Amino acid sequence: MIHVRPAPEQRQPLAAWAVAQSPKVRTAGPNTFAVPARLFPDMPESVLIGAEVDGYRYRPVSEDDAAGAPPPSDLLGVATAEGLAEHAAEQHTAEPEPPHVIAAPAGCAAPAPLPTEPPSDVIAALPSPRPAPLPTQGSGFPCDRCSRRFATKRGRNTHHRQKHSEG
Ligand SMILES: [Zn+2]
Repeated sequence: MIHVRPAPEQRQPLAAWAVAQSPKVRTAGPNTFAVPARLFPDMPESVLIGAEVDGYRYRPVSEDDAAGAPPPSDLLGVATAEGLAEHAAEQHTAEPEPPHVIAAPAGCAAPAPLPTEPPSDVIAALPSPRPAPLPTQGSGFPCDRCSRRFATKRGRNTHHRQKHSEG
């Protein structure tokens, strides 16, 4: 049995439906109907609006649809599947960044440690202190040696080779 307590305005329609069944649906309390489970799917939805079913508020099918529907499709314009696939492919196929410090061949003496501070003329040439690394979801590909950004990873790597490979 499913106990249905209709909303006040649906009490009469539900009672009318209950007495129309064969056998009649009986009440389980002053305002509660004991509906056989086999009859429940056949109940007119209108009498269930606002009702409590087994103690829980009845959720119309249309409300379930609204809650379970995917969000509006305008979000698809932000991150298309194509763009995501391209991004993922790029991450998988990208070569690892070459290290800036060339490891000394085995057997050679360790190279002198790099100066921790660039020469003062380099500092003067920089427009601003090097910013903190930006999140990767930002646009473009930032150079990790200077503050320039590039539209493509290839452009960034080319710049990297040309500007930073010579120390
Ligand atoms: Zn750079």
